[in-house]
Amino acid sequence: MFDLKGKVAIVTGGNGGIGLGMARGLSSAGARVVVAGRNAEKSRAAATDLERFGGDPITVEVDVAVEASVDAMVARTLDRCGRLDILVNNAGTNIRRRPETYGLEEWRTVLDTNLTSAFLCSRAAFPAFKRAGAGKIINIGSMMSLFGASFAGPYSASKGGLVQFTKSCAVAWARDNVQVNAVLPGWIDTDLTRQARQQIEGLHDSVLKRTPAGRWGVIDDFAGVAVFLASTASDFITGAVITVDGGFSVQG
Ligand code: NDP
Repeated sequence: MFDLKGKVAIVTGGNGGIGLGMARGLSSAGARVVVAGRNAEKSRAAATDLERFGGDPITVEVDVAVEASVDAMVARTLDRCGRLDILVNNAGTNIRRRPETYGLEEWRTVLDTNLTSAFLCSRAAFPAFKRAGAGKIINIGSMMSLFGASFAGPYSASKGGLVQFTKSCAVAWARDNVQVNAVLPGWIDTDLTRQARQQIEGLHDSVLKRTPAGRWGVIDDFAGVAVFLASTASDFITGAVITVDGGFSVQG
């Protein structure tokens, strides 16, 4: 049920953090992972990491905010791997600042990287899914898909929008046997949050205090949910929003 042998999975931002955690899960279930990121050196290191799990990973350079680059990523995948079965829209960024101090270009950077990217990648992947008669899309939201924060205006707008986009694609593509779901991470120890911990005083301890599991998440917490949502085990699950947060979002 969880076997992904013979499947090909693009993971955007699969060269580090949560994307790498998901890529490890997909690789260990047998999928061939396409590590898609901007930083080629980081992507090569991630592919070496993934080789431990088998699956013959490849790397593709992409800027997910750029239409032509996304289209080339999918074309390259089809060219080198001959098929595409799974897309993880994970690449993301944040610029932490109060809303009144945001520049329009900064707003656009966050929206383009986190939200428009999911549209571009999903649109580019859909024809391959349609031809194959099946497909899986996993969109990575955030606790900011649910909550707000003074420093996260564009980020929360992008991540809230991503959940709504997930639901619309789920409805649109259900008859094509393409399932589209969202995963909302809590506070996870990655490059992104290491930066946040430097910028937001007291963040480390307040996350520990608020998270019922009593710890920060780690990237390997995402391996299982990736396999589940990429496999036939989840074929009747679409438009769902799954939190992976140690209980953060249900703490009263
Ligand atoms: P990282 O900074 O470790 O990973 C972000 C990844 O996105 C990098 O691998 C980076 O690759 C890639 N990326 C960023 N911009 C682009 C771009 N324009 N084109 C291609 N790739 C890009 O952070 P996380 O692992 O923490 O974040 C992964 C996802 O999880 C993001 O969507 C984030 O918003 C979300 N998230 C993270 C949480 C956390 O606590 N860590 C909580 C909630 C959500 P490269 O360096 O090659 O550009």
